[in-house]
Amino acid sequence: MLTKRKSPIQGYGIFTDSPIKKGEAFYKIPSDKILSQNHHQAARIGAQQWVWDEQVLNFVNHSCEPNVFINVANLTLVALKNIRAGEEITCNYDFSEGEQGFHFICQCGSKFCEQQVGEVVRN
Ligand SMILES: [Zn+2]
Repeated sequence: MLTKRKSPIQGYGIFTDSPIKKGEAFYKIPSDKILSQNHHQAARIGAQQWVWDEQVLNFVNHSCEPNVFINVANLTLVALKNIRAGEEITCNYDFSEGEQGFHFICQCGSKFCEQQVGEVVRN
C-alpha cells in the first residue's frame, strides 16, 4: 500500500506501508493518467508523453539518490533497491523533465545531491 503524507523532503510524499524488493514493479500508472501533451507540472516521461497522476506520482518527491524509477515501457514504478516499510518513495526527475528552463533547487539531503536539478541557469 502506498500512502501520501507529510514528507521531510518537501510538502507531501508517497510512502510505502510494506517492504518492496529491489526490482519489483510495485505500482502501475493508470493509462488514463498518461497525457500526449504537457499539462501544468505534469512529469515528462517520454518524447510526447507526460503523466499526471494525482493519486501517486504527482506526490513522489525527487531525490538525487532515488529508490525507484519509472519504467516507461510498461508504465510501472520499479524499486532500484530494497525499500523498507515506512520509507518514502523517491524518483530522480532530472531525466524525466527536461523541459526548457526546468530547474529547481534540490533539498533531498542525499550525499550525492546535485543541488541544482535540471537546466542550470547561468547569468
Ligand atoms: Zn538532491
